[in-house]
Amino acid sequence: MDKYPEPLEHLIKEFQKLPSIGRKTAERLAFYLLAQPPEELESLSQAIAQVKERIRTCKECFNFTEIEHELCEICRDAQRDSSVICVVSHPQELLKLEKTREYRGLYHVLGGVLSPVNGIGPEQLHIEELLVRLSKGNVQEVILALDPKVEGEATAMYLARKIKPLGIKVTQIAHGVPVGRDLEFADEVTLSRALAGRVQL
Ligand SMILES: [Zn+2]
Repeated sequence: MDKYPEPLEHLIKEFQKLPSIGRKTAERLAFYLLAQPPEELESLSQAIAQVKERIRTCKECFNFTEIEHELCEICRDAQRDSSVICVVSHPQELLKLEKTREYRGLYHVLGGVLSPVNGIGPEQLHIEELLVRLSKGNVQEVILALDPKVEGEATAMYLARKIKPLGIKVTQIAHGVPVGRDLEFADEVTLSRALAGRVQL
């Protein structure tokens, strides 16, 4: 026998398609699931099946939202300060900033950072939509909270060049976050400080 029975092989192959999952981890996950009661597996497969049906992106800021809402929880919240927009590359970073409980403005999720080598130019990101939001006139400050790596930095510079002519203050969170580390993994205290110590571009 050089393979497991087909259904088990199939599951292992499916896991291997996921990011950072190699054959060994895929096998471990598959064996783990095989040992679970059927209702656990039912719950997992339901979660997988529903995530695409029940989640969409906010039409204003591109954060995740439930399918029944065009706007995400943050954009729907009238208590938030709509004069400040914090720009992040992914929803994970937005959540991280939310957990600091220091920021009460709105967000804009770019969907990545500029990366010419990977074919990601301004058109591939939600930059145009950001500029449209800013042109409505209510925003006084844009805080750039992108990864302090080369590409995040280049994206921040690009955005600052586009936004400053609109007469809007552009700031960047202080990089207490060590260079080369993902913003996503920065702890909440570091992020709070980074937000408080933001610098004008
Ligand atoms: Zn939103």
